[in-house]
Amino acid sequence: MKPSAALNRIQPSPTLAVTSRVLELKREGVDVIGLGAGEPDFDTPDFIKEAGMEAIRQNKTRYTNVDGTAELKDAIVAKFKRDNGLTYAPNQISVNVGGKHTLFNALVATIDAGDEVVIPAPYWVSYPDVVQFAGGTPVFVSAGADQQYKMKPEQLDAAITQKTKWVILNSPSNPTGAGYTADELRALGQVLDRHPHVWILADDMYEHIVYDGFQFATIAEVCPQLYDRTLILNGCSKAYSMTGWRIGFAAGAPWLIKAMAKLQSQSTSNPCSIAQAAATAALTGDQSFLAERNAAFQKRRDLVVAMLNDTPGFTCPVPEGAFYVYPDISGVIGKSTPGGLRIETDEQFIAYLLDDYRVAAVQGAAFGLSPAFRISYATSDDVLKEACSRIQDAVSKLR
Ligand code: PLP
Repeated sequence: MKPSAALNRIQPSPTLAVTSRVLELKREGVDVIGLGAGEPDFDTPDFIKEAGMEAIRQNKTRYTNVDGTAELKDAIVAKFKRDNGLTYAPNQISVNVGGKHTLFNALVATIDAGDEVVIPAPYWVSYPDVVQFAGGTPVFVSAGADQQYKMKPEQLDAAITQKTKWVILNSPSNPTGAGYTADELRALGQVLDRHPHVWILADDMYEHIVYDGFQFATIAEVCPQLYDRTLILNGCSKAYSMTGWRIGFAAGAPWLIKAMAKLQSQSTSNPCSIAQAAATAALTGDQSFLAERNAAFQKRRDLVVAMLNDTPGFTCPVPEGAFYVYPDISGVIGKSTPGGLRIETDEQFIAYLLDDYRVAAVQGAAFGLSPAFRISYATSDDVLKEACSRIQDAVSKLR
């Protein structure tokens, strides 16, 4: 017995690997600052936790409908109307065990061997692996710091072939925080108008985490002609600080939602009944805490971006949203550490940071665009200040 060919096409998640390494070092008593984890440091709001506890008290502890309870689907339908001006019926909604599971269901349910999926890089680590697991081929479009980490329409056009099944758009982005404006989405939409066989997977997981008055937009809203071939992926993990509850969802064409349910019926059956009750409360309750949390995130973003841009050799675009920054570190490549190691790659830079300065971040290579690295700033101002001064110190020692 050995692992399957499909399994051999994927890698363990590199971001989860950094989180495990930090926990291991902390257990050994090492003073390490972990900036690798992709989750808010805030707690799940009390009214959401209470809804989960109430669900247990009311014995909402049995199997549910495969792809979501009627209550949660109604709450998601109302969310799309309220936040995005989009109209969906409950049979256009799928609820899954986290957004990663939504992605998995959508791609595994639709990709045949040889199908291509256009993925702008840097990308969230799971996109290429899930595409490859499903038998498809990722086609990367490189969008660096010089273009604010956003794919240009002509790049999208050049990447599309007859074999293209999906293009993935993630805004605001993990790992860069870059957000597409409505006009930028319209320009991409004009390209997609010319390629009617291509479907769009809009990953809006960070929709609510935006700064400086940035107006979040999603492509099905600004290009209504693309509504029929767009699947929106969203979830409760990031905005509502519910990463452990595992609720993600999608909205799209009824046949696709049905196909995803078929796959889910033979894997997880349904998302956790208690988490679904909590998610219903999250989506229908008072949303004002989102703005308070964004104000805290924005302060941290400003602190981190300023300190990184003060670091010689780094260029850090200012992100529109999410809680990540992605400094380009071209200026430190080719330099040597005091220990005599020549830094040729961002992986080596990240190893130097961890070994000599006890700061854990994730190398750009994991996200498909180097040399760079990702910092998650979902941690306190004091910890961020300390981490950034350690980084500045590390860079100042390079020769
Ligand atoms: N999409 C993006 C861009 C993400 O960064 C993540 C999580 O890191 C997800 C989707 C999935 O989130 P989850 O599976 O925790 O709900």
